[in-house]
Amino acid sequence: MPDDRESQKIPWHALSEEEVLRRVGADQNGLTEEQAREHLDKYGENILEEENGISPVRMMLKQLRSPLIYLLVGAAFISLLIEHYIDASVIAGVVVLNTIMGFVQEWRAERALAALRQMAAPRAMVLRDGQERLIAASLVVPGDILLLETGDRVAADARLLKSDDLEVDESALTGESQPVFKQPGRHPESQALIDRTNMVWTSTSVTAGRGRAVVVATGMDTVIGEIATEVRQTEREETPLQRRMGRLGTILGIGGILLASGLFGLGILQGYEIIEMVLFSVAVAVSAIPEGLPAVISVTLALGVQRMARRNAIIRRLPAVETLGSTTVICSDKTGTITKNEMTITRMWVGRRTYTVTGQGYEPEGEIYPEDGALPHELSDELRTLLTIGSLANNARLIHNEKGWWIEGDPTEGAILVVARKAGFNIDQLKRQQPRKAEIPFTSEQKYMATMHPAPDRSVVYVKGAPERVIDFCTHMLEDGKRVELDESRRQIIKEVNTSFARQALRVVAGAYRDLPADTEKLDRSLAQSELTFAGLWGMVDPPRPEAIKAINDARGAGIHVVMITGDHAVTASAIAEKVGISRGAGQAISGSQIEEMSKEELADQAMTVGVFARVSPAHKLKILEALKEKGHIVAMTGDGVNDAPALKGADIGVAMGKTGTEVAKEAADMILTDDNFATIVNAIEEGRVIFSNLYRVVAYLITTNIGEVFTLTAALMLGMPLPLTAIMILWVNLVTDGACTVPLGVEPKHWDVLKQPPRAPGSGILDRFLVRRLLLLSPVMAVGTLGLFAYELQIGSFQHAQTVAFTTLVSFEWFRALSARSSYLSLFSIGILSNRWLIAGISGAILLQLGAVYSGPGQVIFSTVPLSLTDWALIIPVASSILIFDEILKRLGVYGRLPVSVTKR
Ligand code: ATP
Repeated sequence: MPDDRESQKIPWHALSEEEVLRRVGADQNGLTEEQAREHLDKYGENILEEENGISPVRMMLKQLRSPLIYLLVGAAFISLLIEHYIDASVIAGVVVLNTIMGFVQEWRAERALAALRQMAAPRAMVLRDGQERLIAASLVVPGDILLLETGDRVAADARLLKSDDLEVDESALTGESQPVFKQPGRHPESQALIDRTNMVWTSTSVTAGRGRAVVVATGMDTVIGEIATEVRQTEREETPLQRRMGRLGTILGIGGILLASGLFGLGILQGYEIIEMVLFSVAVAVSAIPEGLPAVISVTLALGVQRMARRNAIIRRLPAVETLGSTTVICSDKTGTITKNEMTITRMWVGRRTYTVTGQGYEPEGEIYPEDGALPHELSDELRTLLTIGSLANNARLIHNEKGWWIEGDPTEGAILVVARKAGFNIDQLKRQQPRKAEIPFTSEQKYMATMHPAPDRSVVYVKGAPERVIDFCTHMLEDGKRVELDESRRQIIKEVNTSFARQALRVVAGAYRDLPADTEKLDRSLAQSELTFAGLWGMVDPPRPEAIKAINDARGAGIHVVMITGDHAVTASAIAEKVGISRGAGQAISGSQIEEMSKEELADQAMTVGVFARVSPAHKLKILEALKEKGHIVAMTGDGVNDAPALKGADIGVAMGKTGTEVAKEAADMILTDDNFATIVNAIEEGRVIFSNLYRVVAYLITTNIGEVFTLTAALMLGMPLPLTAIMILWVNLVTDGACTVPLGVEPKHWDVLKQPPRAPGSGILDRFLVRRLLLLSPVMAVGTLGLFAYELQIGSFQHAQTVAFTTLVSFEWFRALSARSSYLSLFSIGILSNRWLIAGISGAILLQLGAVYSGPGQVIFSTVPLSLTDWALIIPVASSILIFDEILKRLGVYGRLPVSVTKR
C-alpha cells in the first residue's frame, strides 16, 4: 500500500481498476470492518481542518488579555509597592478567580458547540463487510467503496467503478458550476486533473445519478486537502449580538477609564490620599467594565443551542439563533414535515374502474375490491399491468422483521409495493424475471421516473409520476383488456378522477408503459416521454402530523405566517392545508405555472393570503423566497433535495431535514431538524426567542447594576463624602455578586408569553429604549439608597460601620435587581418567584458569601467590615428591595412595553 503522503503522486486515474483496488487493499465489496479499523489507524481520520478547536492553554491566555486584568495587575503591583499586602493578595486572588471563571464558562460553551458540530457532521454511505453502512464521513478510509446518490457530498477522493448518469458539481474545487458527467474507465496518465472524469473528488456534490467508487485518498491527502496547504481554522462565527456587545464592552471600558481618571483628579483636589484614590479609581473602572459579559453570552448561547438540540433542532450557524427569534414567515414542505410521509394506498383507478384498498400502514394485509359493487374477482389484466409498473419502476424495499413491516426508501414507492403484495404479487420473483436495464431517476422538477426492462421479443419502459405529466406523454390507455386511443374525452375522465382523488387529500401517482425494440440499450427522456400507454392511478393517504396542527396554530399566535410548499397536486395540497389549519377555509392553492406568471409583488401577497403552493419546483421556491424577502419578511424555509440548496442558502433560516435530507441540503442549511418535523421549527423559534430574552436579561442586569455602582461612587465623590466602599469591596460586588447572578439569569426557563409575542424586529439590539429607560430609572435608585443609608449611618456610628452598611446595601440591591431582571415586563409574581432554581441558588450563595464577608474573622480583615446588627438589616433590606418594588410598578405602568392587547391572560 502507498505511504499516505504519497497517495497524490499515484496516477489513480491511469491504473486499471484491479490495480487501484489492489493498491488500496480492497475488493469490489470494499473493506471488512476489521480492515477499515486498520486503515483508520494507518491513515487517520478523514477530516480537512484540524478540528481540535481552541486549545485550553490558548483559551486561558485569552482570559488574561483583557483591559480588566491589566488594570487589576497594575493595582496589585501598586499595592505591593506601598506594602498593602492584603489588598495586593486580594486583587491577585480576584485576577485568578476571574480568569478561572471566564475559562470555565468559555470552555463549557466550546464543548457544547463542539458536540453540536459533531451532530451535524456529514455522513457517507459505504460498503463494509459487503453491507451498505451509513457512517460519519470522518471515518471513511482508503479502500472503502463509496455509494453515491444524488444530493450526496463526496466524502473522499475516489476512483469510479460504476455509474448511472452520475453528474457532479465540482465548483468547490474548480469554481466551475456546470456539472461534470462522470464515467468509469481508464485515462492517460497525462490527463489534466479537471478532465479525469473517472475520478470523484472530496467536497464536490452529486447533482444527478448514482455511482460506486473506491476511495483512494482521505483527509489532507485529498486534492482539496493539498490545495489548503495551511491547516484551516474552523470558522467560529460570532452572532451580531456578540459583536455588538463586544463593542459596547469596549465603549463602557473606555468610558470607565476616562471617568476613573476624572474622579482620580477630583479626589486628589478634594484632599484624598493618592494611594487611596489609585485603588478607588481602578475599582470604578472595574465597575464600569461589564467583565463577565462575553463569557456569559457565550455560555447562554451554547446552553440555548444545546437545549434546541435536545428538542431535535441542530443549529449549524450560531448567528441563526438570533434570526430565529425574528422569523415572520415559515415556508415548509408538506410531505414528511407537515404530514407523516407514511403513505398508504386507499384507492386505485384502472380500466375505468375505481378500486378501494383496505388495510393500514405497511403491512401487506388487506383487500382490493371494485367500488361499483362487483364482487372481488381475479385481478384484471389492467390492474396486473399497473401493479407491475409500480413494482418495477420502484427503488424502495418492503422489509419484514421482528419489528414488523417497514419500508426502506421512498414511502410513495413503498406504498405501491404494499398494494402489489396485497394483490398477491411476488416482487422479488418479478424483479428476477424482468431485471432493470436502465433508469431515469425521479426528480422533483420532472416529477416522474422511468425504468427499462427486457420482455419477450421487446424491451418495455415503465413510467410512474405525477398524473398531469404522465398523461401528457400518453397516446393510448388500457380499457377492458384492450389498448385504446387516449382521446380528449378519456383524458378528461382521467383528469376528473385525479381531481376527485386529490380532493380527498390523496396524493395521486399515475402509471404507464411503452414497448420498444428488444435491442434498445439506452433509455433517454425522449423515449420515456412519448407514445406511452396509460395504465391507471394510485391514490394514497398521508396523514398530517398531529403536532404540526398544534404548531401551526402556535405559530399564528406568535405572529408567524405559515406557507406550505409542495410538489403535490394543488387540490391535494389545499385539502391537506385545510386539515392542518393553514388555509382556514380558503380552499385554494397557487400552482407552479401560476407562480411563473406572477410578479414578485403578487407572489408575496398570495403567500400571505392563500399560503399554499403546489406543483412547485425548487426554482419556484427560490422565487417565493425572494418575493417574501423583498417585502421585508424574515423567512425560514425547509428543503431536502440537492436543488433546494440555493433556497436554503438564500433563506434567513435554511432548514434541512435530518432524516430524509441530502448531505448537500444539510450543508447549505442553518439548522437541521433531526426528526423532519414541522413542530420542531416552531419549537426552535420558541427556543430562539428564549435565548434572546435570556441574553437581554443578562445584559440588562449587568448594565443597570454596573452603572448603578458607578453612579454611587461618582456621586459620593462629587458630594465630597468619605468613600462609601473600599476598593476591595467594589471588586467583590463586581466579581462575586454579579457573577453569582448572571449565569442563572442566562438560563431563565421560558415564560408563558414566549409564543404570544410578535416577532422581534430584525437587527433590533438589546440596548433598546426600554433598557435605556430602565438604566435611567433604576440605577439612580441604587445610588440614592446606598448613599442615603451611608450618610445616615455616618451620623450615628463609626465610619467602618457605615461602610459595612453601604457595602451590604449595594450587594443587596443586586440580589433584588437580579429577581426583577427575570422578566422585561412581566411581574415577578406572574412568572413564579421560585421558578428559576439556579437564580435562587445563585442568590443564596451570594448571601452566604456576604455573611462571610461581614461576620467571619478573615472577611472582616480583608474587607475592613464590622458585624451588622438586626436593626441594620431592618434598614438595609427594605431600602434594597425598593428596586424590585419600583421596577414592578414601572412594569405595571407599561413603562417597558407590554404584551399585545389581544393576549391578556395565560
Ligand atoms: P414536498 O415534500 O415539497 O411536500 P412532495 O415530496 O410532495 O413535495 P414531490 O416529491 O416533488 O413532492 O412529488 C411531486 C409529485 O410527483 C407527487 O404528487 C407524485 O405524483 C409524484 N411522485 C412523488 N414521488 C414519486 C416517485 N417516487 N415516483 C414517481 N412519482 C412520484
